[in-house]
Amino acid sequence: MLFPTTTAGSLPKPEWLAEPNRLWAPWKAEGEALARAKRDATVLALKLQEDAGIDIVTEGEQARQHFVHGFLENVGGIDFANKVEMGIRDDRYKAMVPQAVAPLRLNGRVHAFEARIARAHTTHPLKFTLPGPMTLVDTIADRHYGDRVKLAFAFAELLNAEARALEADGIDVIQFDEPAFNVYMDAVNDWGIAALTRAAEGLTCTTAVHICYGYGIKANIEWKGALGAEWRQYERIFPAIANSPIRQVSVECVNSRVPLELLKLLEGKTVQAGVIDVATDRIETPDEIVRTIESIMAVVPKEMIVASTNCGMAPMRRDVAEAKLKALGAGARLARERLG
Ligand code: ZN
Repeated sequence: MLFPTTTAGSLPKPEWLAEPNRLWAPWKAEGEALARAKRDATVLALKLQEDAGIDIVTEGEQARQHFVHGFLENVGGIDFANKVEMGIRDDRYKAMVPQAVAPLRLNGRVHAFEARIARAHTTHPLKFTLPGPMTLVDTIADRHYGDRVKLAFAFAELLNAEARALEADGIDVIQFDEPAFNVYMDAVNDWGIAALTRAAEGLTCTTAVHICYGYGIKANIEWKGALGAEWRQYERIFPAIANSPIRQVSVECVNSRVPLELLKLLEGKTVQAGVIDVATDRIETPDEIVRTIESIMAVVPKEMIVASTNCGMAPMRRDVAEAKLKALGAGARLARERLG
């Protein structure tokens, strides 16, 4: 089937699970009640995607507070009690981040709970997202390793253990989120791809990397405004990604100043192309989605295109996110009729 649909990964959480419309929102329950709420939200997220015509579904990241910290919470050697303020993504915004204070190790499984719930409640192909090593390094204060590359490879080893376990849980696509790849392009080529490859080592399921220009939050919108008329960050990292064993690349395409011709640099890879803008509440029409897919088809073979969102939808309004999911499903259906 042409143009299967998916999302970058996250969906907004119901207001009974966490405070809506914000990142790092505190949970609304604790203990057993929180576990039940996470489970219910996970099942609901799957149902909403299926009903909207999303083919490759995710658990919507309903069981984690943030895509990076959700992973870090189960990593030993990290001091969560004493967070420090740090400028992340090359100082684009400040975040309160935990500190690495000892050799890193996994305290057991990280995402088994929600991965198994999701697997039990959908027959669709299931995608699961993990933060990539470089993005983890960029979202933590290092008080132990003293070297970003060593820290990245320590994370890569832990990510690999969790990714293999997720594969055993029945996950079909494991996607590493690397928004830091668009910020530290030299480091991507020096060690970022190598660390990512280590994280994906030995996986037989489909592997993907998501590289975007971020959620539709103020700091990102301002950053994008400062990037000039053409965003060519991808140009510097795609050749190395094309040479890596990662099979799919999730990128931002719609309402973006990324010249689509850069996607030619990903020859041989499946492109999860963002055809839904997460930085606006305006709902795309199916016709617009067809036109976006058509413009991507000019540079990527159509059988290599997956229709997706530009980034995660975690901080969006729920009604908007649901309408965008439906638009994505309808747009891809129309594209199959017109461009198939
Ligand atoms: Zn993203």
